[in-house]
Amino acid sequence: MTDRRGLLIILSSPSGAGKSTLAKRLMAWDPSLEFSVSATTRQPRPGEEHGREYFFMDEKEFKQLAIDGEMLEHAHVFGNFYGSPAGPVKKTIESGQDVLFDVDWQGEIQIRNSDLGKHALSIFILPPSIRELRRRLETRAHDSEDVIGKRMLKSWDEISHWGYYDYVLINDDLDETEERLKTIVQAERMRRIQQPSLTQHVRALQTEFEDQQ
Ligand code: ADP
Ligand code: 5GP
Repeated sequence: MTDRRGLLIILSSPSGAGKSTLAKRLMAWDPSLEFSVSATTRQPRPGEEHGREYFFMDEKEFKQLAIDGEMLEHAHVFGNFYGSPAGPVKKTIESGQDVLFDVDWQGEIQIRNSDLGKHALSIFILPPSIRELRRRLETRAHDSEDVIGKRMLKSWDEISHWGYYDYVLINDDLDETEERLKTIVQAERMRRIQQPSLTQHVRALQTEFEDQQ
């Protein structure tokens, strides 16, 4: 048990702008970061594993978790339900570790308005252009042409919420974006509220100061 509460680091972007790639790089840089594995009703993609990318479940199970208050936030995205289980997040941030979320703008608002909201740090990733966004979705080759079309149609809805976020990065050069992302995380860890042990340090400085008077 520690006084420090971890940060809730939220990454959002229109699908294809690069947030999963950046999330993986951030976790490789700092293995102490815990990824919040979401629950979803969408079908697994090839290579995705239950419990690693998502907890895959049917609508009945998902809705029951939401009714039971087990979700920190949840939303309907691209015709499927997605949500962040609250239990693991609370446990991790109470142990002082930071949690990384890959959620849409609806999730960002709900997390910010939750009782953990004061520890939230949200970052929106923009593509350099719409043409490049489509190119990335096509080269990722995860989805059918139909699904890519749906994601492109939804991209403006996601982009239009950029103003709700603490930070906004244009993901043009991947290495540069990664560096800027790490800088943000490092700075946010220095926020006064993220360093409760400072009170003790300042008290010790005060005692030392008074002793020298
Ligand atoms: P998201 O999680 O936002 O849907 P991904 O991280 O899956 O997006 O990225 C979509 C595709 O774009 C992937 O093939 C990824 O390798 C590629 N990509 C991500 N960032 C960049 C970048 N800065 N430049 C070029 N390609 C990128
Ligand atoms: P995908 O199907 O490509 O994995 O994710 C589709 C969208 O759902 C992405 O914008 C992703 O950020 C969002 N998403 C994934 N998990 C969650 C979640 O737990 N909550 C919310 N609100 N959105 C999520």
